[in-house]
Amino acid sequence: MTRHCCCHGPELTVSRRTFAFGLVGGLVSACSAMTRTMTAAQVPLVDFHAHLQKHISAEEIVAYMDRSNVARTVLMALYYGDRGGAVNDGEGTDEQAVDYAGRFPTRFVPFVGMQRGILVNRRRWTHPDGIAEGLLEETEGKLKTGRFFGMGEFMLRFYPYTTELGIVAVSDMDFPADSPLMRQFAGLSARYRVPMIIHCEAEPEAAARMVRLIELHPEAIIVWAHNCGRSSASQIREWLSRHPNLYADLGLMVSRGGGYGTYWPRRTPWMHLVVTDDGTLLPEMKALFEAFPERFFLGNDRAHARAWIYHPYLSERWRLLLSQLSPDTARKIASENAERMLRRQ
Ligand SMILES: [Zn+2]
Ligand SMILES: [Zn+2]
Repeated sequence: MTRHCCCHGPELTVSRRTFAFGLVGGLVSACSAMTRTMTAAQVPLVDFHAHLQKHISAEEIVAYMDRSNVARTVLMALYYGDRGGAVNDGEGTDEQAVDYAGRFPTRFVPFVGMQRGILVNRRRWTHPDGIAEGLLEETEGKLKTGRFFGMGEFMLRFYPYTTELGIVAVSDMDFPADSPLMRQFAGLSARYRVPMIIHCEAEPEAAARMVRLIELHPEAIIVWAHNCGRSSASQIREWLSRHPNLYADLGLMVSRGGGYGTYWPRRTPWMHLVVTDDGTLLPEMKALFEAFPERFFLGNDRAHARAWIYHPYLSERWRLLLSQLSPDTARKIASENAERMLRRQ
């Protein structure tokens, strides 16, 4: 199938994923004249960083999406259960993601979920055992089916938190990004040309290991979540200049009163915000997005079933952010970058 696109020239595409995405072309085509003239308040969004839990139905998510004009949502199953003091309201599965995408093929994009209890184990990353090998095999099998379009969220440097909704994330995770197991997942990203979304707060050593992973696997497609682990604009600028295989998602970076848009759940010297409390885009971040408009994605990062209630509010906060960018950059970050990434072979 040949797709002619005014923005990117003709693309030769043959996979079944292209077929699925082609169905929605009229709705969110990055190239349509309609989209070109839309303002930030109207442009469709692609939620590139979202999760899936047992206790949220496909219909409920679609209703949230429709309410905020979110055209498409990436589903990363959050497998974590409620044990050992944890309250995750998770228990999503990859099979559930495929089922939702089967029922709403133009709205959901399944990734192979990586928030699994078996991966909260430092030794498993540094010395992969049979369980790790099994997960690699299972992941490759799923990517081979063509039904999964990425992997994530890999949780490497993560701070525990509690929320007013009763969520308790208990694990203080610190797993090296350049570990043997991560390197094998990076190999899968390169082989199947799919993005891998990685959560890694950019403390100096954790960030250095992320850079090592990126350098060791130039063919892997690395999406460093939460604006490269909430790094500074100057640091992100340097990394994006040096590493063409690096992207950043802005998952939840517009939240206020908690969440990754604030100094939460703990403040470190390496943590930098994107917007102020009132939603004003910080000048250095605005300059960064305008300088690298094709390297960022947005996402509401609904990690727990009961937290989907904030979806409408967060979507509004994205529109406020987009309204402060040039129309071209706003469209790219709103949906075009995600659409292009998710279509690749
Ligand atoms: Zn995250
Ligand atoms: Zn997340």
